[in-house]
Amino acid sequence: MTKKPSLTGRVSTVISTLLNVTERDILPLLRKGVSEGNGPFAAAIFKKSDLSTVVVSCNKWRESPLLHGETNCIREFFVLPEPSRPAVADTLFFATHEPCPLCLSAVSWTRFDTVYFLFTHEETRDLLGVGGDIEILEEVFRVRAPCDTDETLASRARYNKTNKFFTAKSVAELMEEVEDLDEKEALRSEAERVKKLFHEFRDASRSYSEI
Ligand SMILES: [Zn+2]
Repeated sequence: MTKKPSLTGRVSTVISTLLNVTERDILPLLRKGVSEGNGPFAAAIFKKSDLSTVVVSCNKWRESPLLHGETNCIREFFVLPEPSRPAVADTLFFATHEPCPLCLSAVSWTRFDTVYFLFTHEETRDLLGVGGDIEILEEVFRVRAPCDTDETLASRARYNKTNKFFTAKSVAELMEEVEDLDEKEALRSEAERVKKLFHEFRDASRSYSEI
C-alpha cells in the first residue's frame, strides 16, 4: 500500500506556501478576472506531497454564475489529462474566501478532504460587502428546531467544518497549530499583509455584488 502524503508537521510550510501562491499567482489572475467583470475570488489545488500547485483558477461569473473560484478550479482540475492530474486524495484545496454552500457541496462531491481558506465568510462580507454565502446557508439550510430561540439559532455554526467529506480551516485556524511563537507571529503578520492586498478589490466587488 502506498503511503498517503500527510500535512502534519508541515503546517508552517503549508501556510507560507498558501500565502506565497496567493500573492504570486492568484492576485495577478484576480486582477485580470476583476477587470473583465468577475468576482475577486479564487481557488487553487496543491499536491500534498510537495505543495506544488496543480491548478490555480478564479471566478468566471461572467461566463456562468455557477463558476465560482472553487467550482471553476474543480472543473479545470478534472479536465487535466490523467498523467498530470494527481489523485484527489493526494491534494489539498485552497480558496481565497471561505466556500459558499455551492462550493462546499462541490468539494464534497469531488472528495477533496482538506480545505483551507484565507478570508472567513464574515471577513468577506465586511471587506467586500458580499454576503450571499451566509444568506444562503442561513435561509436555505438552517432549520429551526422547536426549542430554538432567535439567539440559539443565530449562535449555531452554519455548517460542519469537520465532517465525513472534508475538514475546512481558515489560515488563521491553521496558524493555531504552529507551536513556535516567533514563527507563529511572523506568519500572522505575513497573512495580514497578504490579506490587505485584497483591499484593492473593494470597489470592484461592489459592482459584482449588484450583478
Ligand atoms: Zn462558491
